[in-house]
Amino acid sequence: MLNSPTKDTSVSALPILHVDLDAFFASVEVLDNPELRGKPVAVGGAGGRGVVASASYEARCRGVYSAMPSVVALRHCPDLIILPGRFSRYEEVSAHFLEILSEFTPVFEPLSLDEAFGDVSSLSRLGVDALEAATDLRRRIATEIGVGSGIGLGRNKLFAKLGSKRAKATFEDGVIHEGPGVFVVTPEVEREWLDTLGVRSLWGVGPAMGERLGRLGIRLIKDLRSVEESTLARHVGRAMAKTLVEYAEGIDERPVEADRVNKSIGHEETFAKSVVDEAELHRHLRRHVAIVTRTMRESEQVARRIGIVVKFDDLTSVSRSHTVPQALDDEDAWASIAIELVDSIPRQGAVRLMGASLSQFAPRASSSTQMVFDFGISGAVESTPEEQQLRRESLREALDDIRARFGRSAVGTGIEFHRGQVAVAGQRERHAFGPESTENQ
Ligand SMILES: [Mg+2]
Repeated sequence: MLNSPTKDTSVSALPILHVDLDAFFASVEVLDNPELRGKPVAVGGAGGRGVVASASYEARCRGVYSAMPSVVALRHCPDLIILPGRFSRYEEVSAHFLEILSEFTPVFEPLSLDEAFGDVSSLSRLGVDALEAATDLRRRIATEIGVGSGIGLGRNKLFAKLGSKRAKATFEDGVIHEGPGVFVVTPEVEREWLDTLGVRSLWGVGPAMGERLGRLGIRLIKDLRSVEESTLARHVGRAMAKTLVEYAEGIDERPVEADRVNKSIGHEETFAKSVVDEAELHRHLRRHVAIVTRTMRESEQVARRIGIVVKFDDLTSVSRSHTVPQALDDEDAWASIAIELVDSIPRQGAVRLMGASLSQFAPRASSSTQMVFDFGISGAVESTPEEQQLRRESLREALDDIRARFGRSAVGTGIEFHRGQVAVAGQRERHAFGPESTENQ
């Protein structure tokens, strides 16, 4: 099926492209310091709680990969060179990448610093061959930026993204197997190809979700077709079940969103019976925050601002908001802030409505969120005041860590970090390590 000349590779058959730069942070480090070429290099935290954010292919073929604790990475590869991140530099390179992409198609959607979807359907009027165009784009990225990339082309986002992963190198017993660079999933072969892939390669299926599906006997994408959606829904929730069933059928109708507007995601609730008890209010607030945070993460975003609203029985309502210098995507971190906000509101009797919202979004740079640190606190939503205190301390510690590492300007003004910020996140292991983090090659 690969790049077969007998298949229709016109843009009209393959309107969506996904491009992902190879081992982005590590590649930039090697680019700026040629002495590192050919060596096992990782960008991440070198400390005891440090996590690998990005690993060069030389590191990767020795068993090091993103999201792996640095301690474990060093065990696999004792001569691993671990470098701290230089985010302003990565943003600079990313801006160049997006500039090249914008010349290729005006309709593109960045997912993180090194990854984007492009809608190339507008090229079809010009009778462009999609494979040729993608090959050109890849060549331009390599010559003008100096970083490798993988590009997938397909009928929709699902196939484009799966395709870019397939386009990349794979690693086996210390050997790097180069990938094709561009991988085309034509409509004729997409079903057959989908049948060969594991369910973990799907967007949103991280280790935990993969395990849950495994217990239902679902290991390959095609196994999803042998289960009733209602059965699946009981185990993974209705929304996820619907999405998975659609993916297994090759259905993905999400458009490429060129201008993701800075909107907000909110959730509020009018209580059946007004609430007086403070602990109960906190519990509701945690739930609201969890809902909006998870919704936000589904769209691969991080937020900098939280707002809460409280309406009392006398119908007066008070809202409060807070902006953090570094974007967050963790519900516990946001909940700690939300609780402080709600506690700062003078009580005017029983509360009849409460809500929370997140705004000031940026695309999630999945690897940068993992690299800064790991809270390492086991994450029950119900937590003792001591645990909450510890969490707040961890948050402060993390911000201090960012200041120490990236300079005082990294936290405070936030101007330099308008996109793909170094986000602070806790309990990454609970999050879906979807395609992003496992394929950050
Ligand atoms: Mg990448």
